Amino acid sequence: MIANIHSSLTGGAVDGPGLRFVLFMSGCQMRCLYCHNPDTWDRQGGTQRTIDEVMADIGKVSLFLKAGGGITVSGGEPLVQAEFVHEVLRRCKEELGLHTALDTNGLLAHRLPDDWFDVVDLVLLDIKQIDPDKHKQLTSTPLQPVLDFAHRLAAMKKPMWVRYVLVPGYTDDAGDVDKLAEFVSSLGNVERVEVLPFHKMGEYKWKDLGLHYELTDTEPASEETTERVRQQFSARGLTVV
Ligand code: SF4
Repeated sequence: MIANIHSSLTGGAVDGPGLRFVLFMSGCQMRCLYCHNPDTWDRQGGTQRTIDEVMADIGKVSLFLKAGGGITVSGGEPLVQAEFVHEVLRRCKEELGLHTALDTNGLLAHRLPDDWFDVVDLVLLDIKQIDPDKHKQLTSTPLQPVLDFAHRLAAMKKPMWVRYVLVPGYTDDAGDVDKLAEFVSSLGNVERVEVLPFHKMGEYKWKDLGLHYELTDTEPASEETTERVRQQFSARGLTVV
């Protein structure tokens, strides 16, 4: 089995609990205006690697990962190459005894049966916007599949972290944040919400790829706005980091 891999990172500390091996898969259907990794969008991009090569890399550090960490498969969007990702997660659990996390935008999850997710201990679900029109404007894709997936994970009682990128003018409206907080708190399986301030560190990649970057004049959210958004989630009883 072969997949296109964008890159990997050993010792990642922000994509799930503890220190993790993070595998970044190639391919993504969303086109988020703030994406800092547009170089992951091409399904045919990156390097072709076999499942055994990837497992050998993870195996070399598996003892270190077992100390409270694990593996996270991210992207791009990992569900673009779902068959390969399932096999990596299955082997990490069964052969190496690792905690497994899937960092996904949820858009393609409707293609997969519930038992596909048996190999996933934790889902990191990005919800980009709760307003369908603004979601479409921000990502070029529909919102409903993402919400449907969140409901499925809740029904499965699958532990979930929600990630929300705070972008002034796009995702900082108090009414939108409140609707999202209400939705997230109603699920019952969300262990934490991560409010991630937008940054422009990936802007140069858009230019390198010959793409137009729309957020050149957008500044990161102020501390005041960030704190207000965090409070809106906390007020619904959610743990916010
Ligand atoms: S889902 Fe992630 S990788 Fe895909 S466009 Fe959005 S930010 Fe970029």
